[in-house]
Amino acid sequence: MLGGGQLGRMFIDAAHALGYRVHVLSPDADGPAGQVADLHTAVDYGDLPAIERFAASVAAVTYEFENVPAACAAACAAHAPVRPGQRVLEVAQNRVCEKNTLRKLGVPVGPFAPVSTLAELKAAAAELGCPAVLKTAGGGYDGKGQRVLRSPVDATYAWEDLGRVPCILEAFVDFEQEVSVVAARGVDGTTVCYGPIANTHRNHILDVSVVPSGASREVEDAAVGITRTIMDGLDVVGVLCVEFFQLGPNAPGGERMLVNELAPRPHNSGHLTLDAYGVSQFAQQVRTVCGMPPAPPAPQGPAAMANLLGDLWPEGDAGEPVWSTLGGQSPDTDLRLHLYGKAQARPGRKMGHLTACARTPHEAIRDVVEARAQLAPATRVAPD
Ligand code: AMP
Repeated sequence: MLGGGQLGRMFIDAAHALGYRVHVLSPDADGPAGQVADLHTAVDYGDLPAIERFAASVAAVTYEFENVPAACAAACAAHAPVRPGQRVLEVAQNRVCEKNTLRKLGVPVGPFAPVSTLAELKAAAAELGCPAVLKTAGGGYDGKGQRVLRSPVDATYAWEDLGRVPCILEAFVDFEQEVSVVAARGVDGTTVCYGPIANTHRNHILDVSVVPSGASREVEDAAVGITRTIMDGLDVVGVLCVEFFQLGPNAPGGERMLVNELAPRPHNSGHLTLDAYGVSQFAQQVRTVCGMPPAPPAPQGPAAMANLLGDLWPEGDAGEPVWSTLGGQSPDTDLRLHLYGKAQARPGRKMGHLTACARTPHEAIRDVVEARAQLAPATRVAPD
């Protein structure tokens, strides 16, 4: 496992349940994954001799973040299969390459233009119209590396503010809701999908996810069909999440699902699969990376997940949220707490999540949001 965060930790838990041992390579030995790894190599992703030794000692390599440097992935690939492969990584690391590749696969994406100079940005803003979203082509996550252009006169400010680096300008999509589909594909091409899962964000960070999404059967089937096209088109072996903008019924062109971006790994929106499905996204990652076909996901009913950010923790070293409040709901409320073992809480930092399983998606959202509110009644929210 390349990467030491919570996705790595939940992968290791699933790997242990199947009898595998996991060697983690990440700079921080005491991170969420390092704490539960069977072996840990604490080096930087640029330390190629150490990466070669690591890859030579394992049966297969996967990762839990998409910004794995190309040289690191190549060094691993010389010794063991890297899943999902280098082509998928390359596509997911660059938003321009991602959008062009999706278009070539016939997958619907919103209007966009690559920009590598201020003059190109001004021309693109004139062509696409405003509002529009300027995003760095590489390296962004959780809304970092993005600026909204409300008018073409914002171009110079946004360009300077993002550091004059290669970018993509995207037309602002007037979406009805955001949804994601998490898929797992085996070496033999067998593919299973979770969702669509409906997602709401707060300060550009995922806040609450819920399944089922509430979209019509036809719209949900379109998202799953697009996901399968991407899994086959990129020959993904492993887990990949497709994030979509779901448009209203009167959207121009009739398209109801536009792909926003790809994450070639389990996704935060898929954390509810740990409690709401017989087989989680992490178990599927273990299975497919180790050469097994994915298992049927076995959905068990509606569920919602709420992220627990560092904002919920008292400031300074004043302890933790009041976990004992989680027992205070009605006996019907089925709540599950997951913590990632991070020593330091910071505003915006993902510290854990709560999942509620319920009779309806609305009840699941209610249960999980009410439980979270009880943990720290005066939640501080980072300014937008
Ligand atoms: P991303 O990092 O591309 O997932 O963007 C983070 C969030 O910003 C998305 O989940 C959307 O809520 C919003 N966003 C990004 N791109 C667009 C767009 N082209 N139109 C409207 N909202 C967007």
